[in-house]
Amino acid sequence: TAEVLGEFVMIEELQQRAGAVIAGWCGSEAGAVAHCVAGAITMAIAAAIAGEDAAAIAALPDAGDRMRHVLLPAGHAVDYGHPIVQDIRLAGGVPRLVGNDHECSIARLEEALGTGDVACLLLVSSRLVRGAPLDLDAAVAAAHRHGVPAFIDGAAQDMRLPELLATGADLVFASGQKYLASPTAGLVAGSAQWVRAFRAQERGIGRAMKASKEAIVGLIAAIEERRGMDTGEWSRLQARKVSEFVERCASLAGIEAWAQADPSGMPFSRAHLRP
Ligand SMILES: *Cc1c(COP(=O)(O)O)cnc(C)c1O
Repeated sequence: TAEVLGEFVMIEELQQRAGAVIAGWCGSEAGAVAHCVAGAITMAIAAAIAGEDAAAIAALPDAGDRMRHVLLPAGHAVDYGHPIVQDIRLAGGVPRLVGNDHECSIARLEEALGTGDVACLLLVSSRLVRGAPLDLDAAVAAAHRHGVPAFIDGAAQDMRLPELLATGADLVFASGQKYLASPTAGLVAGSAQWVRAFRAQERGIGRAMKASKEAIVGLIAAIEERRGMDTGEWSRLQARKVSEFVERCASLAGIEAWAQADPSGMPFSRAHLRP
């Protein structure tokens, strides 16, 4: 990252290289990098609205007479520092929530999907999602039955990208700056067709969400480091940290402390504290 700051690069070549590295790492057909996941969500929605039509891309967030509704389960309409539905609106999309905070059944989703949405946005998060867990495989399959692409925000799920891609999702997003420890970057993995439409937005609304050369290079380096990492050893280290922390907290008067497996399936447990 530091070395590339003083160099000129062709961003297109760097994006191509990063795309190949991402795909080779997580097993997707293609990959790309945006400034961060928030930007990646907006660019994906822009892709769903405008496709690769240059005039439509340049006109966003004015979607003209294009279809622009984006479906998401109500419990997935989270606030991770700002409302995720704003990422949809920024692209000219109109969020449409299905179900309620307690539940969004596949039947409800399927029913809603029949009404002409451009995309279905799903979220995987250990802490933010509300309500009963959604069967992601079934949700993605339902979207596809109606010809609607499915995008998964797995911002803190970089260790589960192959699993999330196995749902059949068209695009999956993960933050480079979370567990992957790269400079801030929105990693995008998915089908060649949707990554191409995604990257087409770089000439439109995505220009304000551009991945910097240093972030792209840093992300490539972080993926290389991750590939060399012994996950079992890393998990054991986390387990030791958590158990030491829990043990010390539990010794404080009036504090109940315990370890619990990460609910989304990341390979570590979390410390819970209750007064
Ligand atoms: C962190 C996070 C984001 C935002 O990711 P950035 O890369 O910081 O933009 C979006 N969604 C979820 C679920 C997150 O945890």
